[in-house]
Amino acid sequence: MKKHVPYYKRYYYSDTEWTEDVLRWARIFEHTERRIGSTYTKGKIFYISTVFLGLDHSFTEEPHRPILYETMVFCRWCHRGMDQDMERYSTLKEAKAGHEAMVRKWKPWRKVMKHIINKHILRKEEV
Ligand SMILES: [Zn+2]
Repeated sequence: MKKHVPYYKRYYYSDTEWTEDVLRWARIFEHTERRIGSTYTKGKIFYISTVFLGLDHSFTEEPHRPILYETMVFCRWCHRGMDQDMERYSTLKEAKAGHEAMVRKWKPWRKVMKHIINKHILRKEEV
């Protein structure tokens, strides 16, 4: 039986594979394709990016689901592309579905226009 390794000592290659050897992980991770999804909305105004994080971003106690994937939505005109929306997941399957859901959420032109008008024309803080 494999010994139990605490979650904070695990370095992930995927949602099913991990190692305790940080140097080995770093070498492999450097060449790992981390991009799960990459989508621009019309006019390239929003960029929706889903990536594999490689490190557990969960801070929950056990029983534990590691958070290994993240979707972020960036606006080309916001300060430093400031993230517009964000979602995190445990599995590749969830990440792929989450990316598609975020695309459906931010792709509608009325949503893009609402952001442009409120944030970049009227300069309201909330969008
Ligand atoms: Zn913006």
